Amino acid sequence: MKLYNIKENDEQVSFGQAVRQGLGRNQGLFFPSELPKFDDVDALLAEDFISRSTKILSAFIKEELPQDTVRSMVENAFQFPAPIKAVKDDVYALELFHGPTLAFKDFGGRFMAQSLAAVTDSDEQITILTATSGDTGAAVAHAFYGMDNIKVVILYPKGKISPLQEKLFCTLGKNIHTVAVDGDFDDCQALVKQSFDDAELRKEVGLNSANSINISRLMAQICYYFEAVSQLPKEKRNDVVISVPSGNFGNLTAGLLAKSLGLPVKRFIAATNVNDTVPRYLETGQWEPKVTIPTISNAMDVSQPNNWPRIEELCQRLGWGLETLGKGAVTDEQSAETLKEMNQAGYLCEPHGAIAYRILNEQLSDGETGLFLCTAHPAKFKEVVEDILGNDIELPAPLAKHNAMELLSEDLDNDFDALKAVLRKVQ
Ligand SMILES: *Cc1c(COP(=O)(O)O)cnc(C)c1O
Repeated sequence: MKLYNIKENDEQVSFGQAVRQGLGRNQGLFFPSELPKFDDVDALLAEDFISRSTKILSAFIKEELPQDTVRSMVENAFQFPAPIKAVKDDVYALELFHGPTLAFKDFGGRFMAQSLAAVTDSDEQITILTATSGDTGAAVAHAFYGMDNIKVVILYPKGKISPLQEKLFCTLGKNIHTVAVDGDFDDCQALVKQSFDDAELRKEVGLNSANSINISRLMAQICYYFEAVSQLPKEKRNDVVISVPSGNFGNLTAGLLAKSLGLPVKRFIAATNVNDTVPRYLETGQWEPKVTIPTISNAMDVSQPNNWPRIEELCQRLGWGLETLGKGAVTDEQSAETLKEMNQAGYLCEPHGAIAYRILNEQLSDGETGLFLCTAHPAKFKEVVEDILGNDIELPAPLAKHNAMELLSEDLDNDFDALKAVLRKVQ
């Protein structure tokens, strides 16, 4: 299947090109030209996670990659479960944090790594260069770890990410090179941009980004919506409402794509923190981003969500009115209050999941079954959660393991020539 650029529709690319390129001309996002649909969704739901996910992804990419290949990509990427847990009657948490970096970004990041490896020749040298303020770097590092022809260089601001975050991805070694830059996150991003602007360097080391708007990530995320519904008792599958804690709106896009494939979902809820561009837009029809405000759900501190055009495109193509989307925005105070309530009810959550839970509870009607996405492990936001709940949180095994390992990062001046030297050295 081809994908097209939603800004410049005449730009059509293969899946392989879309994965390698990330964005189209004029910063346009790629979107599938056909929207497949499964006739027998019950049969699909009856399959196991790996087989079902292989079928879902093959529906998009079977002309380019044989089903056997897709299956082994899925097996390599999805090596951890996505269980649902009942939090109260008819309300379930979908836990997406059982991967190596304890956040849902492991699903997309790892499938993207598999996709990139599948669409490049094994003798082709690729260098993934990315800047991180913490979480993305960890997901990218773990996803590409051990892939021989792909070198990964991750820049982060020295001393400005949490020690735990740093340990999670700066202790890997092999093809993962982490660089502590003497500057802030914007300096790191500027260095990355400068590198991509240098055509000679780009060619020499095969520069590529592991951008979060890559379509392969969204496709991977479709799979866990099916996995969630498959775990619900059959009689509860008819009136499912899913609440998605949203920042860049990739997760919600994937959910809507799952619905377009035939997954029975009655409605979705776009849940945000006070960076509420989308809920306000759904209310008033005016797109009016404000200055981004820092919150305790910082992975959702986004006021110009870059996946939103994909949601508009999908809804327009399927004739779904945007008014069918639920919406809501939550303050830090309310998130903390909800986190405490959940803890008292016996479910340990973190601020992002708590936002989705709160709005779901406010909007769920009798007879409906609610699912809310838990996008990160509570330990990933240890300080905030301990502060709110007043008790200690145990580190899960992957985090504890890396926490005990030695940091392998090298220091770098905020200087492009110094970075160039690093990029050449790691080849
Ligand atoms: C990235 C992230 C989100 C936001 O997801 P989007 O797909 O960008 O809407 C929510 N929670 C956590 C923990 C995240 O890391």
